[in-house]
Amino acid sequence: MTGPEILQPQANELGALVLALHAEGCPWLPAGQASRLGWGAVVAPACTVIRTSGLNRILDHNPGDFTIRLEAGTPLQTVQQALAEQGQWLAVDWPWGSGALGGGSIAGLVARGLTGGYRQKYLGIRDQLIGIGLMRADGVSAKAGGQVVKNVAGYDLMRLFAGSWGSLGLITEVTMRTMPLPPRRSGLLIQGPLSQLAPLGEWLLGSSLTPERIDWWSPALAATAGLAPLPLLLLGLAGVDASTMAEQYTAIAAQTPLACEVLTSERLEELLAVAGGGNGSPPAWLLRLGVNPAQAPLLLAAPEWEGIPLELGAGSGLGIAWAGAPGDSHGAAGALNPDQVTNLRRRCHRFGGHLTVLSQPEGSGLNAWEDSPSRPLIERIKHQFDGLGQLAPGRLPGVAQIAGHPPRPQA
Ligand SMILES: Cc1cc2nc3c(=O)[nH]c(=O)nc-3n(C[C@H](O)[C@H](O)[C@H](O)COP(=O)(O)OP(=O)(O)OC[C@H]3O[C@@H](n4cnc5c(N)ncnc54)[C@H](O)[C@@H]3O)c2cc1C
Repeated sequence: MTGPEILQPQANELGALVLALHAEGCPWLPAGQASRLGWGAVVAPACTVIRTSGLNRILDHNPGDFTIRLEAGTPLQTVQQALAEQGQWLAVDWPWGSGALGGGSIAGLVARGLTGGYRQKYLGIRDQLIGIGLMRADGVSAKAGGQVVKNVAGYDLMRLFAGSWGSLGLITEVTMRTMPLPPRRSGLLIQGPLSQLAPLGEWLLGSSLTPERIDWWSPALAATAGLAPLPLLLLGLAGVDASTMAEQYTAIAAQTPLACEVLTSERLEELLAVAGGGNGSPPAWLLRLGVNPAQAPLLLAAPEWEGIPLELGAGSGLGIAWAGAPGDSHGAAGALNPDQVTNLRRRCHRFGGHLTVLSQPEGSGLNAWEDSPSRPLIERIKHQFDGLGQLAPGRLPGVAQIAGHPPRPQA
């Protein structure tokens, strides 16, 4: 996205700036570190960007209550470092591409509403959000929720803004639930044919072991990490001591004839970094997808994934895949063309899910997402929050194409 103007107000300048933009009906886009602004539906290029990098303070951390209140632009890395000093963490994955693009801001994370494998145990970002402060395009400020986990007032507003992609208002601060860091962590890696992995995955989802993560990897993702090019299940396990960890390995190994490789927490982190895109340049195609979790092994078996790195959460059915443009490749990843991505989108639909195109080669002409059945409701809410349509013009999650904003030009 090429914005003509990027503004970085301090907290005390924000209100006046937003009011001035409203008086002129000027289009603008809320942003954090602007690390991933262009991903998803295209925003009108002549759009002012308001970055929240001037709002970057930890306002309050209450370790006893397991809550932390943060200004919108606080980097995720700053948050995790501060929490680690108190033996706590925000139970979220590093956003995809963190190796090359950085971890982004806390409000950027909330605004995108995307989560990774830790969702298996800790649920999604919106479930960890317990308070929010926001500013509408007309300069009106609002707060919902609070610092007390039991407080459910304003719950809907928080859910509305988690995944709003900057289209409803600017998030000024968030209060998040924190978690104690597990005393011990390790991984378990199991590779083999899908016919043998699928029953194990199903058993794990129903077992009382509650792994922190149960991730499916495509053979190409395994190969990218230097492993045999076979499907795999990657588990993250937590426990209080060595014996509780050993009990988990034994219980899992008893369920499968396949070899289970125990990973140190450092090795697990290395593999998660590979699944998070490594340090390479951003790929031409970046796809976010979801299916009914019961269909995840079937999706993994689809021929379109040949050579394409794909990671899918076994419990959520949500995942991410990336590839190069036709005639090109991205690192060790293969290439996709728009027809193949359209086929994959149809396949995800058949398996009860969806496919969002976060990034695509110039001229591919695919909508980032398709119309949601609740499009009329989404548009009514948008109008209530942003009557002049100033915010993120052209981009509204759940609305494939917005009147006056044509899709990407065909090549
Ligand atoms: C496992 C995982 C995988 C992820 N994968 C992806 C991915 O593939 N692609 C992706 O785009 N994101 C992904 N995310 C989300 C990612 O966390 C955010 O995109 C990232 O945090 C952006 O940070 P940023 O501060 O640079 O935001 P920006 O790049 O500046 O903005 C990102 C989005 O958030 C909105 N936004 C930012 N700040 C605010 C604010 N204060 N108020 C309202 N809206 C705001 C922007 O309008 C824009 O739509 C993933 C997250 C996780 C946990």
